[in-house]
Amino acid sequence: MQPRTLSREYSRGRRLINELGITENISLRKYTTFRCGGEARYFAEPSSFAQVRDLLQFARSEGLEVFVMGQGSNILVSDSGFDGLVIRIGKKLGEISLMDKGDGSFEIDCCAGAPLAYFGNIAVKEGLEGAEFCCGIPGSVGGGVYMNAGAYGREIKDIAVSVTYLDKTEIKVLGAEECRFGYRTSLFEQDKTGDLIILGLKARLVKGDANAIRALAEELRVKRATSQPIDVPSAGSTFKRPEGYFAGKLIQDAGLKGFALDDSGAQVSPKHSGFIVNNDGRASASDVLRLIRYVSDTVFEKTGVRLEPEVRLIGNFDQ
Ligand SMILES: Cc1cc2nc3c(=O)[nH]c(=O)nc-3n(C[C@H](O)[C@H](O)[C@H](O)COP(=O)(O)OP(=O)(O)OC[C@H]3O[C@@H](n4cnc5c(N)ncnc54)[C@H](O)[C@@H]3O)c2cc1C
Repeated sequence: MQPRTLSREYSRGRRLINELGITENISLRKYTTFRCGGEARYFAEPSSFAQVRDLLQFARSEGLEVFVMGQGSNILVSDSGFDGLVIRIGKKLGEISLMDKGDGSFEIDCCAGAPLAYFGNIAVKEGLEGAEFCCGIPGSVGGGVYMNAGAYGREIKDIAVSVTYLDKTEIKVLGAEECRFGYRTSLFEQDKTGDLIILGLKARLVKGDANAIRALAEELRVKRATSQPIDVPSAGSTFKRPEGYFAGKLIQDAGLKGFALDDSGAQVSPKHSGFIVNNDGRASASDVLRLIRYVSDTVFEKTGVRLEPEVRLIGNFDQ
């Protein structure tokens, strides 16, 4: 990346960059499950809510674009990287605590950086029902809230009580019913200001039959492992489910199961047509995007249904 001049205020204080734990020109490849893409100009992984706020303020005062990243399991980062500040809400903000409400239910406070699977596994271990679907989703709690992640008939909205988030400089709490959850969307996904950062989720789960809960979690794990290419880099389902259809079925019916445009490594998974995979992490982000567009166009030509990516494109893909 070309060197960038920080404002006088901050060139006075590269000290602040150090204090905020900001590093420069960091490859994002290893932070994404697609295993491709370029560098972040600035990158930080905060360990407190105050640090998240300070990072956002720093970016705003420097006129830097901000990308908030969780586990990077639903993004495709451009090969030219991200010319701004990536704030990664990771395990340093990953605490989970349980409170027995005394009425057979528990409230679970999850910091946004906790892996969803960790949250799901804790619930299963404690004999709490309703979060089994989280066990196999490789994202963070924050990413799960943002996307209203779901599987096997359940979504984050079904277990959410409230969401704690940063709005510019202020920490706010919103009841789940106000979070505008919908299919792979939420108020946070719909927000255009870029000023909202999810800090935590409060969920409510009830005690159930511990054996049945364990059995369900195991059943879903096996289902996932047998039907999805979980051992190959991808971002999960590449496309949103078009109303009335399944993306994977449309792609398969269009004759694209296992299809590759070239030997770049980008391929429609031979195991699940809804996943575009990056074999051995060889493909570039533009190879992956070329295939995404080809699949979407081909399915549209054959069926009239336009597949829209669920995967979020980060950075500049125009060149
Ligand atoms: C093998 C595999 C299987 C998958 N299976 C499923 C599945 O069954 N169901 C499902 O719903 N998804 C699934 N996914 C997709 C993905 O795991 C989910 O979308 C997950 O919720 C993304 O979380 P993340 O932390 O990785 O978010 P990221 O990919 O890091 O980010 C996704 C979006 O969320 C935003 N975001 C993340 N954290 C925050 C935050 N704290 N505050 C504000 N915005 C934030 C980002 O800015 C970005 O726009 C799968 C992915 C893979 C690789």
